[in-house]
Formats: sequence, structure tokens, C-alpha cells
Amino acid sequence: MSSSYSEEELKQEYRNIPSTVAEGNVRKWIYPKKPSGSWHLRRSIVAYSLLGAFILLPFIKVNGNPFFLVNILERKFIFFGNIFWPQDIYLVVMAGLILIVFIILFTAVYGRVFCGWTCPQTILMEMVFRKIEYWIEGDFRQQQKLDQAPWDGKKIFKKGLKQFLFVAISLFMGHVVMAYLIGIDEVYTLVQSNPLDHAWGFLALIAFSATFYLVFAKVREIVCTVICPYGRLQGVLLNRDSMVVAYDNIRGEPRGKIKKGEDQGDKGDCVDCKLCVQVCPTGIDIRNGTQMECINCTACIDACNDVMEKVSRPKNLIRFDSLEGIENKKGFKFTARVLAYSLVLMVLTVVFGFLMTQRSEIQATVLRVPGQLFQKNDDGTIGNLYNIQLVNKTFEEKGVELRLISDFESGEITLIGEDNLVLPPQGTTEGVFFVRIPAEELSRMKTEIEIEVVSEGQIITAEKTTFISPSK
Ligand code: SF4
Ligand code: SF4
Repeated sequence: MSSSYSEEELKQEYRNIPSTVAEGNVRKWIYPKKPSGSWHLRRSIVAYSLLGAFILLPFIKVNGNPFFLVNILERKFIFFGNIFWPQDIYLVVMAGLILIVFIILFTAVYGRVFCGWTCPQTILMEMVFRKIEYWIEGDFRQQQKLDQAPWDGKKIFKKGLKQFLFVAISLFMGHVVMAYLIGIDEVYTLVQSNPLDHAWGFLALIAFSATFYLVFAKVREIVCTVICPYGRLQGVLLNRDSMVVAYDNIRGEPRGKIKKGEDQGDKGDCVDCKLCVQVCPTGIDIRNGTQMECINCTACIDACNDVMEKVSRPKNLIRFDSLEGIENKKGFKFTARVLAYSLVLMVLTVVFGFLMTQRSEIQATVLRVPGQLFQKNDDGTIGNLYNIQLVNKTFEEKGVELRLISDFESGEITLIGEDNLVLPPQGTTEGVFFVRIPAEELSRMKTEIEIEVVSEGQIITAEKTTFISPSK
């Protein structure tokens, strides 16, 4: 292959050359035809519902606290009103693993549906930014004409208005992302204050907004076809049984144009109108077979169904189907791979559910004070000094008491400084305490003891530690 692709090479080498590369190795700007039809309607309902939820979530509060927060800097995470701390990172990792296996399973069965229907990149690109473009500049032909036209008043107005709206939406989305990271109240503060007083927050806001603008105004479908690692994985995730947006080549070929009233003869159902190519937002021809660039957006299904209706042929020449379904008319098969992914997903979900039930609201760490062995007291007891660190994972203040659990008849805990430990909401506290045990009850140098952490009469957690005494 030469370093500069010719038009003919580009046609033949669709699997080797990205659909966004034009002759001379320059970027081919994709002007997709405005999609419409029943699939587009379904996709719009899903997309706008998800977008609405994404924008509204940071505004939702439960008892004055965010419902959703991913504060990486302060290492505070709130999911569905439950606060998670760095100590709960294993749960976040587990949830991430479940999500990955779910996406792999979903892809093996339904192909890249996630991309076309739920990915924020596609939703914003196709349902927000491109819709604005259609509204201001018209459908694909008018957009092409406008780009080629000289700069006059009309073009300056249209392009200016479009860029203004693109920047405004990018800024808005930048604020939404910040609301997920620092909370909506902090974003209000940021907006109302002098940028110099919150330089880092302000810079982050600008960086997120600029990224949105660059991705949706400039980079566009290249995110899906070249940058996104999930897209690159399609080759290993899909198999002959995966349901994907597919062209029925058995029914469609040999393709050919037909004139009104002309007999179809031995021609297939595809009339080679290329409407499926014109609507494709990644610029591919689905008739070449399943390709990595296909995001399963279904725009080509709608376009082809329209054509089939006009030429009085059965709909769904392009449809959701598997290669096996098209070639051998086989329905969906539960393959060994799908079964294995399902099992892994089930096991991970059960483990995750179990770990969630074991998660305590207060986390305690008890350690003996370094450098201190034991203390012989006048009352005949041996004392050991301990540090306790407590993390309150709830939104309420918690009072905590410590209890000694042991086989000894007597033995007590004395907090140094205060009678009770009080934990501020979502905060941490530290305390120092003595454990005293009568010497005659200790038979070994090292004895295992257990400290129970009790709050509002309920045992929150129990921590094991060692008690040191003089040798006998
Ligand atoms: S081939 Fe069809 S489903 Fe795939 S991206 Fe293009 S228009 Fe969407
Ligand atoms: S829209 Fe349908 S009929 Fe037209 S080229 Fe595509 S597959 Fe063929």
C-alpha cells in the first residue's frame, strides 16, 4: 500500500484504511444524512432519557447530601446516597469488574449496542451537537455546500451561531462533570466567586469544557473509530452468533439500480441507492460486512427500510441479526463463551452482594502504641496502651463506646481524655485507651483480645489485637 491512498484503494481497502481518511491521507469530514425512522425514534427516547438523568443526578440530594459524587481529590465517593471511602476501594474495584464483564457479555451477545445507544460520546454527538448542526446548517448536502461556499454574511452568521452554541453546551457539560467531582454546591460557589480565589477549580472547569468542545466540534467520530479502546476490542469480542447491525447479503446481492416498472430479474433486493452509507455517522458501508467502525446506531436500518418500502420489497434488508442468522437462518444460540461470561458475571455479582452486606458504617483500626510494652499498676493489673482510628462512613454524627471481649473474668477499657468517642459525619477521629487486666488472669506473654466498637447499642465492628504481659 502506498503512503498516499488513491480513490480506488480506499474503496477496496475498507478494512485497512479508516473510513475517515480521504485520498492523499487527509481527514475526510463525515457529513451524515439526517437520520429518521422508527429505530431513530427509539434511540432518541433512550438517549434523551439517559442524558436527562446524567444532567439531573448531581442536583439530587438525600437529606442534604449528594446522591452521586465522585470526589477523587478528597477520595470521597457517593453512589445512590451511600458514601464510600478509600477503605471501600475493593467494592469500587468489584463494581468496576462487574461492569467490564457485563459489557463484554453484552457485546458478545448484542455487538456494539452500548456504543450506539448508551455511550455519552454518541449521545452527545448524534443527539445534541449534530442536531444543532442540522438545525442551523440543514441536512448533509446543505452542510457540504455551506462549507464550500465563500464567506458571506449568511455563512458567518450560521457558522458563528453554531460555534456559539457548541461553546455554550461544552461549558454547560464542563460544569455538569465538575458537579459530579466536587458537588453542585461547590460548583455554585466556583461560578459566583473570583476565578483567582479558586484557580484550580476554575482551570479544571475550563479544561473539561475545552475537551467537550474539541471532541464534539472537531474530533467527533474518530473517538469511536480510532481512539476508544472498547471499539478496538470488537474483533475479539464478536463471533458469528453475535447480534449486530448487519446487511443480508444473501437477499441483497447482486445489488443493482432499478428503473421504475423494470423487472427485478436475478438482481438482489439492494438497489444500490447508497442511502445506508449516506446516513452512517462513521462513514462506512455496512454492505461490506461487520466492521469495527460500526457503532450499531441503526441509522442505516431506518434508511434502508424506507427504500425497501418505496420499491415494494420486504423491510429489514439491513437488520439486527447474526452472521449465522443471515447465512444459515439460525436464531440466537447460547454459546459456551456466553455461558462462561454469564457464570463469571453471576459469581462476581453474588460476591459483590455479600461484600456489601459485610460493609460496616464505621471502620475501626486498633493498634498497640509503638514503643510501649506494658505497665504494671498498683492495683495488680497489667495495662497496655492502644490507638484507635475510626472512620464514620455515614452522614450522621456517631457516638462510639469500646468494649473488651475476652475470656477474663475482669478487665476493662479506659479511654484517655474523654468518656466517649464522638465521630463527626463523614469524618474520622482518633483515640487512645488503656486495656487493664488483672495480672493473675494472664498466663502467657502474648494474649489475643478483641475490642468491640458499639454505637447506639449495636455492635458495629470487632477488632482483634494482642495484649502483652510480663513473663511468669
Ligand atoms: S453501519 Fe449502520 S449501524 Fe453501523 S454505524 Fe453506520 S449507520 Fe450506524
Ligand atoms: S439503503 Fe438498502 S437498498 Fe440502499 S444501498 Fe443500502 S442496502 Fe442497498
